[in-house]
This record gives sequence, structure tokens and C-alpha cells, in this order.
Amino acid sequence: MNDRTISLWQKIKKNLKEELPEASFETWVGNLELADLQGGRIELTAPSGFIKRGFEERYLEITKEQIKALSGQEKDVVVTVSPDSAPAESSHGDTFYPPPVGSPDSTDLDSGEGECGRERSGGGQIALNKQYTFDTFVNSKSNQLATAASKAVSETPAKAYNPLFIYSKVGLGKTHLLHAIGNYLCNNGSSGDVVYTTSERFAIEMIQAIRQNKTEEFRKRYRSVGAFLLDDVQFLENKEGTQEELFHTFNELYGNNKQIALTSDRPPQELSDLQDRLVSRFRWGLVADIQPPNFETRVAILRKKAMQKGLTVDDQVLELIASRITTNVRALEGALIKSVAHANLAGGKLTMDEIKRFLPDESKQEEELTVRGIKEAVADSYGVEIGELEGKSRKKEIARARHIAIYLSRELTDNSFPALGKKFGGRDHSTVMHSHKKIKNMIEDTPLFYEEIKELKEELSSNGY
Ligand code: ADP
Ligand code: MG
Repeated sequence: MNDRTISLWQKIKKNLKEELPEASFETWVGNLELADLQGGRIELTAPSGFIKRGFEERYLEITKEQIKALSGQEKDVVVTVSPDSAPAESSHGDTFYPPPVGSPDSTDLDSGEGECGRERSGGGQIALNKQYTFDTFVNSKSNQLATAASKAVSETPAKAYNPLFIYSKVGLGKTHLLHAIGNYLCNNGSSGDVVYTTSERFAIEMIQAIRQNKTEEFRKRYRSVGAFLLDDVQFLENKEGTQEELFHTFNELYGNNKQIALTSDRPPQELSDLQDRLVSRFRWGLVADIQPPNFETRVAILRKKAMQKGLTVDDQVLELIASRITTNVRALEGALIKSVAHANLAGGKLTMDEIKRFLPDESKQEEELTVRGIKEAVADSYGVEIGELEGKSRKKEIARARHIAIYLSRELTDNSFPALGKKFGGRDHSTVMHSHKKIKNMIEDTPLFYEEIKELKEELSSNGY
């Protein structure tokens, strides 16, 4: 490769840099390297198939024109993927070409001033809740990473982590943080629309768009936003069409350097019914979890909520509530309101004994429901031995009971799939995931089986195994 080739490529890059928006250039062209020149062709390497295809789709023709203009010759341009610099992208099943949506950098009429975080008349996003800010969120060890990362993406969108993926059990602040990001971006002059929506709403809207022959508008709207905040992506499991749409939306926004933040009730790799290529993209940036808050944090949250609502509540009462409601902040808030309502009805003060009477003691129930207890109950119901649930037998009744025990353990305890694998005879986490999925599908398909599992669940909860 001679100096002329190198300088030719550098000149092309320089010209493209002047012509393209900075983010597009950095993503699609800046990441390419000149690898070789043979006869009439120029060979470039891309760090991933995603960037290779993105470049070819968008800028291959312009690049060829540039070559001709600069060197007076027509040359073929070939892009290969460099194996050593590939990012964490799944290589299988990923044969996607982004459909062209106008020019890649065209700005949609909808984007711009006046819309930030507000609901749009044509449907679309959900309005941001102004109460959900970083100021009203109590920081603690259990949400440290998720909070810090949310602030980082708010301050430097698409630079710190993209996408940001937050996961936790229900009621621990995912939605709050997503709104906090949105509110911050809006208040600090985000470029373009900040769109918050739930996956459910996204799916419903897409279906409506298809029915009304408005898919182009739907696409354009989401693919041209300034920042995209999508809540509860686990909802898209088994929804192939919506996943497809989200995949293209993701690529377009990511490629144009727009911040994406997602939440889920599980980490990406446990979203078993989501396309691999989506899951792999969810892991490109940062994945952060939120754990249930400890006692001190629960009290601090209650204090903050009481203040926000203008309520005066004794510390003693706050502490009692915090000791009883342990796993869900939303429930904590509910208990606070309930206590105050009861106190008002009782004409002012409420004794600790009264509160104890109407607040369930969650800490006790939680502690007692274990994988061991579930195994015992399942073994009992299906007439198999606990050892058989953990063992290797493929006998139909045993395998079925094993799948059920795994399913219930996943649904009713905090164990991850890998942890469950260990507790079920050292199985691989994907095997355990498969069992879970199998039962989940059966429940969805067979009403009688649904009843059977429901009964088991209720029995387990009430007996406090
Ligand atoms: P999720 O989306 O994870 O189910 P939410 O974000 O809806 O949970 O949170 C449930 C309720 O708990 C909300 O009212 C939210 O404001 C509150 N909440 C959760 N975590 C915190 C926290 N660390 N500080 C203050 N409020 C919190
Ligand atoms: Mg939520």
C-alpha cells in the first residue's frame, strides 16, 4: 500500500467529515480503517458487521464518487469485518439491513422545540412525571450504580453509556430513574425530542400504525428522537414484530448518537424470548441493577415521601413500616399513605399496635419461601423424590415435576438462573432457563395447567414453605 492510497483515503475521510453530521461520521466512517489497495479496489475494515452494513447502506456510493473525483479512476470499495476488534455483537442470526428511512440524517419535522417530555397529540410518547427527578430519588448502596449511570447519561447523553440498561424487581425505582433522565435532559436543553414510553405502549402503537397504514410515520417518529427512554422491555418477549421494529429504531438512534435507556425486570441475558441481536445490543453500553433497599434506606425514602406529601409522621411509625415492608418501594409508599389515612380516621394518632394489625409483615414471608420449600411442595404434589428433581432422570413425570419446581423457584424466589442451576443438580443456566420457558408457554397455552400452577403457587405462599 503506498502513500498515495493512504492520502487518498485520508482526503476522502476529510471530505466526508465536512459533509456529514459529526455523530454520523464518527460512527460510520471514523471507525473504518484502510486495509489494502489492490489493482482497482480499496479494502476497508470495520470493527463490526453492524458498522460495515451501516456504512455500505449509507455512504458507499458517496465514497466511490469521492474516489473518482479525487483520483480520476473508478475503484471498487470492499468492507470487511476485522475479527480482532469486533464488539460484543452476536454473530449468529444477525442478517439485518436497516431499511432506508429517508436520508439517514434527515431531521423529522416533529423534533425540536416545545415538545420535550410532553405528550404528543398524534399519540407517541407518554408525558414525563415531573415529580420523578434525581432530587426526589434517595441514593443508596442498593441503587448506587444505576443512579450514577443515569446521572452520567443525563449529563453527557450518548457519550457516557449507550444504551443504559437498568433492571430490578418491581417497585424499586426503574421508572423513576428513567423519568429523572428525561426531566434532566428536557430541563437542560436536550437537542431534539426526549421520548419516554413503555414497551407496551410502543407495541400497541405499532399495531395501530400497521392497521392504519401509518408505519412510515411511526418509524420516522421514533427514529428521529433526541433521546429514547423505553420502560419494561420484558414486555416485548414473544412479540416478534415489535422486537423487529425496536431493533431498527435502536440501530438508527444508536448510529446517530442518540441516547437510549431501557429498563427491564431482568438482566438482558435472561430475557429468553427476545431476539439475540436485541439482547446483545442491550449489553453494548452499561447494565446496572437496583437491589431492594436496606432498612435505613427504606426509612429515608419514607421520610422523603412524607415530606413531599406534606405529612408529619413519627419516626417510630416510619421505622415500623420500614421493618414490615421490605422488598418494594411502591408498597412502602402505599403503606405510608394507608397508615396516615387510618390515623386520620382514628382522629389523629395511631398506635403501633394498630399499625401492626393492618400492615402485613413481609419480612417474615420472604424469608420463609425457599427453593428447598418449593422442591418439597412439588415433590409432594407430583409424587416424586426431591433427589429426582435434582437428578438426571428424563422420565416424563420426573422431568415435568422438575420443570415446574424450577419455574416456581424462579417466580417465587430471588434466585437467578445460574443460581438455580446449581440448586438443581449443577445444571447449566440455559437448561434451567429452558425449563422455565417451557412451563411459561404451557401456562399460556393450557388453561387447566394454568390453574394447576396457580393452586400450587397459592399453596406455597399461604403455607410459608
Ligand atoms: P419500578 O419501575 O422499578 O417498578 P418505580 O420507579 O415505579 O419502580 O418506583 C415505585 C415507587 O417507588 C415510585 O413512586 C418511586 O418514586 C418510588 N421509589 C423507588 N425507589 C425510590 C428511591 N430510591 N427514592 C425515592 N423513591 C423511590
Ligand atoms: Mg416501572
